[in-house]
Amino acid sequence: MSPRAAEYDVVVVGVGAMGSAATYHLARRGHDVLGLERYDVPHSRGSSHGVTRIVRKTSYEDPAHLPLLDRAYELWHDLDESATSDLIHGTGYVAAGPRDGDLYRGAVEACRTHDLEHEVLTGAALGDRYPGYDLPAEFGAVVQPDGGFLHAEQCIVAHVEAAHRHGADVRAREAVSGWETTTNGVSVRTEKGRYTADELVVTAGAWAGEVVPELETTAVPERQVLGWFQPTSREDFQPETFPVCSIASPEGHFYATPVYGVPGLKLGKHHHLGETVDPDDVADPRPADERVLRSFTERYLPGAAGPTMGLDTCLYTNSPDGEFVVDVLPDDPRVTVAAGFSGHGFKFSPVVGEVLADLAVHGESDHPTDRFSLDRFDGAGSVLG
Ligand SMILES: Cc1cc2nc3c(=O)[nH]c(=O)nc-3n(C[C@H](O)[C@H](O)[C@H](O)COP(=O)(O)OP(=O)(O)OC[C@H]3O[C@@H](n4cnc5c(N)ncnc54)[C@H](O)[C@@H]3O)c2cc1C
Repeated sequence: MSPRAAEYDVVVVGVGAMGSAATYHLARRGHDVLGLERYDVPHSRGSSHGVTRIVRKTSYEDPAHLPLLDRAYELWHDLDESATSDLIHGTGYVAAGPRDGDLYRGAVEACRTHDLEHEVLTGAALGDRYPGYDLPAEFGAVVQPDGGFLHAEQCIVAHVEAAHRHGADVRAREAVSGWETTTNGVSVRTEKGRYTADELVVTAGAWAGEVVPELETTAVPERQVLGWFQPTSREDFQPETFPVCSIASPEGHFYATPVYGVPGLKLGKHHHLGETVDPDDVADPRPADERVLRSFTERYLPGAAGPTMGLDTCLYTNSPDGEFVVDVLPDDPRVTVAAGFSGHGFKFSPVVGEVLADLAVHGESDHPTDRFSLDRFDGAGSVLG
């Protein structure tokens, strides 16, 4: 970093999943870092609430993610050791669906490519082993023992507490209203004042396109709805008896985590109703949302289709190809961005934090991140059209 009179080495905009991790990794390396968050730390208006997030090495989307996931697992376990509450819970992971479908085939390929321990069962055999599942007998189901869930809000708390221990300055309820690069660095405006830094890291989630206009079409917010239903067969939906899962069905791609933190099985539908939204104007859960989740539960996880325990909204931020965007802005090398995590980014957040620290300080990273570059979108549109 250049020897000059900036107040901070790096300002991080947005202290959610990725921003809390970046703040920690920068502070741990000895940099003076300021994390600015418009809401509370943590909060429930972005992409990182709802208690649980699935963590899995079975990257059915692309087996090439595995080296990053291996590193993310190491970092989660390190963070878990220093945290005041348990962050990572092992349950095993199930990827199930028609045998000729992308999810099942991608899961088998991910396990085989990287020699991950796994078993391949039929839908019927899965139900014999884990009675919470009642999938079509002919479905394929990959069971991978490294899967589980993360306690999402506590992961953000743990990253911020670890950042604090390394001297980071984190300020909640202070929205960034603008920024510009100067000859010497960056200048960041909030409603409370102005800060200068050598480098800017933008991890603003669903608001990425507001903070960095270049991201408007590459990080598109989408409304999601989560449901929690009380199991009628309680014992079949506990962390010890119900592995977290992704299920491809004719009704769509759903995911579920066992009873934890809320007295109900949690589930959601990937790209729920396909609604692109303004992140400041997200409709509360409606009966039509609940019907989507309940009808899937009644059909495939019937022992969990008891009374509703909760519903909540959450935001995906989709890139045109569903892959992440983690890069230095081509026209503004002092600005590093991470956005477009497209509904599957949480598990990667510690390694994304490490990559962001590399890019902000050195302009490059040893991690394999070419696939996350911004220039792949030249001429591309939005994933939701
Ligand atoms: C319902 C749902 C289920 C999911 N399930 C999984 C899963 O099982 N496994 C998985 O790996 N991933 C999952 N994901 C995806 C994952 O949660 C996201 O990819 C991840 O949380 C995105 O993190 P982020 O840091 O980009 O966004 P956030 O955590 O939302 O952080 C962005 C932060 O920036 C702040 N901000 C925005 N603008 C400003 C500003 N101007 N000034 C200051 N602060 C600002 C926001 O308030 C927010 O706190 C799921 C997502 C959803 C919505």
